Amino acid sequence: MRIFKFILVAFILFLAGCATTPSGSLPAYCLNGTSYYSLKSLCDLRGVRMDYDSFARRVILNKGNYNIHLRVGDELILVNGQPKSLNKPVDFYQGAVVVPRSFKENIIDGLFNQALPVKRQVASLKKIKKAVIDPGHGGHDPGAIGRTGLKEKEVNLDIAKRLANLLRSAGVEVLMTRTSDRFIPLPDRIGMANSANADLFISVHANANPSRKLCGFEVYYVAPSVSDSSRAVSAAKSAPLHIESSCFASNSHNLKAIVWDMIFTQARAESIELSRSICRSTDANMDVRIIGVKAARFQVLKGARMPAVLVEVGFLSNREEEGKLKSGYYRQKIAEGIMDGIRNYGGGR
Ligand SMILES: [Zn+2]
Repeated sequence: MRIFKFILVAFILFLAGCATTPSGSLPAYCLNGTSYYSLKSLCDLRGVRMDYDSFARRVILNKGNYNIHLRVGDELILVNGQPKSLNKPVDFYQGAVVVPRSFKENIIDGLFNQALPVKRQVASLKKIKKAVIDPGHGGHDPGAIGRTGLKEKEVNLDIAKRLANLLRSAGVEVLMTRTSDRFIPLPDRIGMANSANADLFISVHANANPSRKLCGFEVYYVAPSVSDSSRAVSAAKSAPLHIESSCFASNSHNLKAIVWDMIFTQARAESIELSRSICRSTDANMDVRIIGVKAARFQVLKGARMPAVLVEVGFLSNREEEGKLKSGYYRQKIAEGIMDGIRNYGGGR
């Protein structure tokens, strides 16, 4: 009878999840039979930056070259874009995000006990092995046309080729969506980057505005949209994923969709960082008005599974800027600014 009572009490404690086990200064909880730790305390202890989006219940952790994406309720996480399974979900307990023991031991302790790579800048370009450069417009679609007749499609192609040369000489494999005056449908452009498994997609454009005074350089990344999760589901159905965990053996599309959803989110975060870096480097490189980084729903960037940005190199509708964009020297400076931005991205924070 006494044994029965003991089992009953243990069972109630187990259900309540209230048994706590101290682990140094780290608060630990037992939830459903697994030890959990407060993510905030864990990050404080190991000097990891933690950004929590309480609305989406997503967390991004940053330290050195590492970024880790988690979501409350998911046992799948992304470590530098690579999906990993924790076997137990990230949870929410007593008003805070908690992580299972496997996260502390395999991810935080595993990663941050190692010495960090010395030079982030070098590591950052190494990360980019393959890039797709997309000169906007082409063929029957000239894009914007300047006062003196300079066509956007020609400016885009020339700057894109210069950028491709710079990337190739840094050891990056470069694919171009077009190398001649050809029309390419928008979905085919990003499709090329996705099927090539590129690490980067850069679309080059020149601007125009009814206000001829407007001038400057700006970079766009794709804005969040409600279609993200449906896109993730369709991506999950069509694309193979390389995942270390056996939990994917079930081949569940829904489970894969979660991972794709996280990849899209991560690609967007990196796109923002890349956009900022390109603006910074261009500003440092040349005398041009930097308008800045903007979010937009450009069709050409939609569905990108890698950091993807659209660079508007200047306004053809502005007399002075059209004049500059005619010069090979100016186009080369633009290409070099973008190149430096790619080189420094991830390393300049
Ligand atoms: Zn354009």
